[in-house]
Amino acid sequence: MPYTVKEIFRSLQGEGAQTGRAAVFLRFSGCNLWSGREEDRAKAACSFCDTDFTGGVKYPDAETLAEAVAALWPQEAEGPRLVVITGGEPALQLDQVLVDALHDRRFEVAVETNGTQPLPTRLDWVTVSPKAGTALAVTSGDELKLIFPQDGAPPEAYEGLAFRYFFLQPMDGPDQAANIQAAIARCLTRPRWRLSLQTHKIAGIP
Ligand code: SF4
Repeated sequence: MPYTVKEIFRSLQGEGAQTGRAAVFLRFSGCNLWSGREEDRAKAACSFCDTDFTGGVKYPDAETLAEAVAALWPQEAEGPRLVVITGGEPALQLDQVLVDALHDRRFEVAVETNGTQPLPTRLDWVTVSPKAGTALAVTSGDELKLIFPQDGAPPEAYEGLAFRYFFLQPMDGPDQAANIQAAIARCLTRPRWRLSLQTHKIAGIP
């Protein structure tokens, strides 16, 4: 099936448990919680998005897209290959055929999702970032990364889910400094949670 992709690039993972690790980022277009148009933001299910996931380029099939991902990994590099599939909401397009095509090229396949749509199986790393007011279809995985604070999405609501790591990531924007302090305070009082900072922004990594 064709895939619509916003961009593919190589960088370091900036957030969560895999922070600092080299990866190819495959960013799909489109999301089910916001159209991506400013005029729709106020009534969107997710209203704090800072990502442009509109438009993009079409890839006709999984082999072509997996080949484009592999082309960005240095051919001489040893060690594990990692692709981080994100968006927009990647679960709208990610399917088993693409996961298998990436595995065929020796990639570990990680996905970062809002958790509202089912995922293919055989993924190597699943990050769920829940949004207030939405129901989770994905209730287990490797890390749950909650943007904090969110009205209607208290950390306690997610603590019973089956994830290895639980991260609070301070909401970006004009209240960021206060949000960092609030996240620190929450991690100190509820040690199940760890602090996740957007280190790529701090370090100026694209
Ligand atoms: S779910 Fe993610 S991609 Fe979709 S609007 Fe919210 S922050 Fe943006």
